[in-house]
Amino acid sequence: MSRHAATGVTWVDAWEPAAGAERAAAAFRARFDAEPDGVWSAPGRVNLIGEHTDYNGGLCLPIDLPHRTYVALRRTSAAGTPGAADAVVRLASAQEPDAGLWSAPLADTGPGRVDGWPAYAAGVAWALGAAGHTVGGFDAVVDSCVPYGAGLSSSAALECAVAVALDEAFGLGLADDDAGRTRLVAACIRAENEVAGAPTGGMDQSASLRARAGHALLLDTLDQSVRHVPFDLAGSGLALLVIDTKAEHRLADGQYAARRTACEAAARQLGVATLREVRPDGLDDALARIADADLPADVTRRRVRHVVTEIARVETFVALLDAGRVRDVGPVMDASHASLRDDYEVSAPELDVAVDAARAAGALGARMTGGGFGGSAIALVEVGAVDDVAVAVARAFDDAGFHPPAFLVAEASGPASRTA
Ligand code: ADP
Ligand code: MG
Repeated sequence: MSRHAATGVTWVDAWEPAAGAERAAAAFRARFDAEPDGVWSAPGRVNLIGEHTDYNGGLCLPIDLPHRTYVALRRTSAAGTPGAADAVVRLASAQEPDAGLWSAPLADTGPGRVDGWPAYAAGVAWALGAAGHTVGGFDAVVDSCVPYGAGLSSSAALECAVAVALDEAFGLGLADDDAGRTRLVAACIRAENEVAGAPTGGMDQSASLRARAGHALLLDTLDQSVRHVPFDLAGSGLALLVIDTKAEHRLADGQYAARRTACEAAARQLGVATLREVRPDGLDDALARIADADLPADVTRRRVRHVVTEIARVETFVALLDAGRVRDVGPVMDASHASLRDDYEVSAPELDVAVDAARAAGALGARMTGGGFGGSAIALVEVGAVDDVAVAVARAFDDAGFHPPAFLVAEASGPASRTA
C-alpha cells in the first residue's frame, strides 16, 4: 500500500509480476529450504456490470486486475505412483502468518475436511482429482497484493493460481487452451463451493482464468461461452477507479445464499430452469405470476426484476463498447447500482456514499461491484480526475464517520499464468 503525498489517500498498488514472483519464491525457500518448481500467479477481478447474474444463467462482464496472487509450488510426489496415496499437501500464506504451515494428506483435502484459508488452495487439488485429473503431493507458499475480502476476488485469485500451478507441475495440460481452462474453472468453483463452503457463482474463476489483457470478458453463464470485448479506457481519456470501502460485511454469507435461494425459488414458480429465460419483454407477465411463498411476492418480484434488468444492462453496456461509445456507459452503471440497492438490497451505506460522492465529483458513472454488503465500488472517471474523485470519496467517508477507504486503478490485465 502506498500513500500518495499529493492526495493523502491510500492507494493499493499492484506488484510488478517479477517482484511478486520473487516474494513468493523467497518465502518458499525460507519455509521449505528448497527451490520451488516455479511461481504461478492469477489476478483478482472487477466486474464492470452484471451483478448476481452468474448463478442465474445470466451475463457478466469482468476484467482482470493487475493485482495478482502468487503461488510458489514444488511437486513432492508424482500422481499415480506407488505411495501416491500417502501424498501430502503443505501450504503457507504470507497473508495468514498466524496460521503457520498447514499440512494434510492429499486424500483429506475434500469437502468437510479443511478449515480456513487452506480450503481455497487444497480444495483445488481435491476438485481436480474428483474430475479425473490426478495430482500428487505438493508444497506451496502464497503471497498476494489482491485486497482481501474487498469484493475483488482474492479467493478466486488464490484458487486459480493454485490451479495453473498444479496443472503444469503435474502435466495436466489444461491451462494450454480455453477449453482446458474452462475445466480448471470448474475445479476452482467446486473448491470454493464445496470445500470452502462459499456458494458463489462462476464469474470470478472464469475471469481469472479466461479473460484477456486489454479486454473485458463477456461471460454467458448459461453455457460458459465467452467473448473478449476490447476495453480500452485510456484511449478514451478515461480510467476505472476502484474504491475498497473496507466495510465489514458481517451478514454477507447468509445474505448471498438467501439471494441465490430466492432466485431459484422464483425460477421454480415461473417454470423456468434459470431466470435467464425471462426476457425483458416478458418481465411484467412473469412478475404478475409470482405469488407469496417463503418470501412475500413483492420481495421476490424485486429480486427477479433486478436479475432480468441487470442481464439486459450487460447487453446494453457491451453494445456501447462495440460501438466505441465507452463514454456513454455511465448511466448504465448508475442504473445497475440503483437496482442492486433498491431491488436486490445488497448495497451498504459505505457503497452508496462512495457511489454518490464519486458522481458528485464528476464520475461519468459509478456502481457497487461484487456481491455487495461491503466490498468495493467502481467509478468511471476522466483520467485527469482520478485523484480528485478519490479525495472527494475519502472526504465523504470521513464526514460519514466511516473508516478510510482504499483506492486502486483497474486496467484490464492478463489471466492466470506461469510467472517465473
Ligand atoms: P474476496 O474473494 O472478495 O477477496 P472472499 O471472502 O471470497 O473475499 O475470500 C477471501 C478469503 O480467501 C480469505 O478469507 C482467505 O480465506 C482466502 N484467501 C484469499 N487470498 C488469500 C491469500 N493470499 N492467502 C491465504 N488465503 C487467502
Ligand atoms: Mg471471493
